[in-house]
Parts: sequence; structure tokens; C-alpha cells
Amino acid sequence: MFSVARDFSFSYGHRLYRYDGKCRRLHGHNAKARVEIVVDSLNEQGMALDFVDLKAIVGTWIDETLDHRLFLAKDDPLAEILTAAGEPVLLFDENPTAERLAKAIYEYVEAQGFVVAKVEFWETENCRATYFRAANE
Ligand SMILES: [Zn+2]
Repeated sequence: MFSVARDFSFSYGHRLYRYDGKCRRLHGHNAKARVEIVVDSLNEQGMALDFVDLKAIVGTWIDETLDHRLFLAKDDPLAEILTAAGEPVLLFDENPTAERLAKAIYEYVEAQGFVVAKVEFWETENCRATYFRAANE
């Protein structure tokens, strides 16, 4: 088995609705997501996959869907106001934490046909959440 990983950086805004800390206020992050892909054999070029392809598929989606967007919980009252104002708000079923962003990226990459080992998501330089699945999931 082989695994390869690529990092993707993007900026986003969010707040944690009903959270009793400073993250209840609207704020932004410069995030980094590391997507690790697993393959069981190499292609004829000796690669698990071409990083160019990973960038084209995942990087394009991140640029077009996540970068410079605002993430809110769907029951956050700001969601309706900002959507009405024309802001492209991305709604989550629950608060858009680093853990849930890692999971959302994992699920997107998996849906593109990749076997994903894990997605690590740095909300800040020092704070990281990881989403992966146990072998029996
Ligand atoms: Zn935050």
C-alpha cells in the first residue's frame, strides 16, 4: 500500500452559534487541509497518483466552494440575513468546526473516487483536527 498527501490552503469565515467562547463571534481563518490518499499499486509512471490530478480535482473544488466563503450552522440566524444580502454562505447541519470541515473535505474527496486515509485540517497554525474512519466503518 502507498499513501500520498497534498496540502491545500484557503481562507474562510465562520462562527460557532450557541458556543460560549470567543468563536461565537464572526471571525476568519487561514486554513490548511492535508488530504492523504491510499492506493494499493503504482501507475506506469511509478506514482500512486499524479499530484497534478489531485490539485485539479480537490484544489479546484476548494477554490470554488470553500475559499473566501462563510460557513454557518443552518439554524444560525445570520444565515438567512447574509444569504438575503447575497453572501455565498455555506450551511452546515451543525456548527462548522474544524472537525466538521475535515469531515466535509474527506467526504468530497471520497466521492471523487479516491480512497482517503485521512484529512487533517489546521484551523490555525497550532490547532488541527483530523477525520478518518476506523477499518470496520
Ligand atoms: Zn474559528
